[in-house]
Order: sequence, then C-alpha cells, then structure tokens
Amino acid sequence: MTTRTRNDQLFQTYVVGSLPRPRWVRDVIEDRRDGRLSTQDADRLLDSAIPSAIAMQERAGLTYVSDGEWRRESYIKVFSEHVDGFKLEAVPSVSRVVKEPAVVNPLRQRSPLAADAARFLVKATSQKSIVAIPSPYILGWRTWHAEYSKTAYPTREEYMEACVPILQSEMRALADAGVDHIQIDEPWLLMLVDPEHRKRIGATDMEKQIELCVKMVNAVTEAAGDVPTSMHLCHAHFNRQRYSEGGYEPIIDALGEIKVKRFAMEFAAPQSHGVDVLARFPKSKILGLGVIDHCDAQVEDPSTVVARVEAALKYVPPARVTLNPDCGFSPSTQNPMNFDEAYLKLASMCKAAEILRERHGR
Ligand SMILES: [Zn+2]
Repeated sequence: MTTRTRNDQLFQTYVVGSLPRPRWVRDVIEDRRDGRLSTQDADRLLDSAIPSAIAMQERAGLTYVSDGEWRRESYIKVFSEHVDGFKLEAVPSVSRVVKEPAVVNPLRQRSPLAADAARFLVKATSQKSIVAIPSPYILGWRTWHAEYSKTAYPTREEYMEACVPILQSEMRALADAGVDHIQIDEPWLLMLVDPEHRKRIGATDMEKQIELCVKMVNAVTEAAGDVPTSMHLCHAHFNRQRYSEGGYEPIIDALGEIKVKRFAMEFAAPQSHGVDVLARFPKSKILGLGVIDHCDAQVEDPSTVVARVEAALKYVPPARVTLNPDCGFSPSTQNPMNFDEAYLKLASMCKAAEILRERHGR
C-alpha cells in the first residue's frame, strides 16, 4: 500500500488552464462582454456548461483539473472583467487578431477574479483543483499603453505595482476557497529571450526586465500562504502558431529566485530548443514538464510522451517531475482549437504517466 501511494504521487498530471470552448459558450462570454446578456444569466449558463469541462479532464485521468477557464474571455481579460478602470477592446493584441483592454482610470476591484469560479470547481470535482491568475508583470505589458494609460498611471511599472494588492487579495481568496494549487500565468518572462519580441514591445534591457518580473511575481506569490503555487512560461500561441522563439538559458537562473514551488514550462515545442537546459533547473523546484504540443493537431502516443519525460529525467529526478501540456489549449475564446483533440492529448499524457510510474516508481 505504501508503495502504491508513493507511485501515485510520482509524475502527477496537470492542465495549464484553458480548454477549447464549445461555440455556444464562447457566444455567452462575448454576449456578456457586449452587454447582450447579464452577468447573472451568463453565470447560470456557464454553471451548466463547466461540469462537462471538468468531467472531460477527470475521464482523461488528470491529477489536477481546472474549470477549463470557460468563464473568462482570456487569461488576461479575466482582470478587466472584474476590475474597473479599463477601456475595453482598446488596442490590438500581440497576435493582432483580437483587441485588448487598456487601463485608463485608477483600478477598483468590482468582484473576485477567480475565487467564485474556484469555489464552484472545488465543489464540482473529485480530483484536485488548479486555478490560474495573471501575473502583474504581464498585465503591465498587455494592458498599460502610453497613449491611454499615462494619466491614470504615469509609468508601466507604477501600474504593475497597482495590480499587486488586487492579485494578493485574490491569492488569499483562492486559498480560502480551498483550491489545491494556484498558477501564476507569466509567459512573457520566456518570451523576453526572443530579440524579435523584445524589439516588438520596446524592451531594451533584458536583465532589468527579468529583475522586475521576479519582483512582481514574488510580491503576489507570498500571499498564497500554504497553498502550492506554479508559474507558467511559454512562447504564447494563436491558431496553432507560436509568437516567440528561444530556449530558457537566459532566464533559467532567475527561476531559482522566484518563490513559486513549481514551474509549468513549455518543452514539447521545437521553439524551446530541447531539455538540456534542465541541467541548470533549480534543485529546490518542481518541474512541470510540457510534454504535449497543443499547436500540433497530431495526438501524441503515450510512448512519445514517455520519451519526452525520460529525456528530462537525465537532469531532474522523478520525484521532482510533473507533467502538463505546453500551454492552455485555448487561452482566449477566439483561439480556434478542438475539444476532442484536447481530450485525446490529455488522456495520452495521463496514460504515459501511468507507464512512467510503473517504470520509475519503487
Ligand atoms: Zn502558455
């Protein structure tokens, strides 16, 4: 029995967050955003839809399940959905496919970002729960725009600092809601390694940016108390295209300074340049190894996933390795991805975890 418990705790499987939404769910969110549907009516409809997202993940065999992030238009917009002070649909996103909010007035929180949704999830699943919130650093880059935001917050950094107390109180609310794991979404730390991306956003001093990101994420993480935390890094994607390129070398040492317990990192993507960098992965941290390429429509065999994990085991021992897809399957409602494909990919990942427990458990 002891052996079984120990084996079950190895190679735990997580989602990064979002799942593709059925078209009618996407319409509910967009109708809510555009005022055609009240928040209360949208909540009632989403309450009926989300149990199917949870059941899918449970059937796939995941240790940690999310609500598919079906209540939020995107992992960034969840902030402006619950905090006043934004001009919505103000500026084109990095992918230029959707429009994003810009902060125009001092922030004022209207409702919990994710704590109500988390209570629903915790009650609805028999598995462990994971809930994500955006980092103040990425909110600064995505929702502060000189043209619109200077009156409310003269600098991007001042705006990031203003996001911190809101996110800290959300961390405490998520802990109170009984969430098993909180993830901080911060893809831009990895995207900074790409010189093209730095040029696109006008970030000239990479070292200074890394320092600022670490400071912002740590300010929020501390509020989680005893609840385990992750930080998610990736290259960002839309319509099966990634938006940056580059391995983790320039930021791998910074990971050791970040106070989360675990990092959910994109590694199946060719843009990550392989797992050799894990030789420098901090020994005090848990690795969330990205083993599913959500941009590739081909469903990976469990044997492919096993091989990806065993390549990483050269550098990180089984006790510190967990499995996840490279990213959320659909971080915004507009991102066209396939629900059944996500199910098959998650099921394959979970089957691979079983094989790995047999092979590497004691
Ligand atoms: Zn991601």
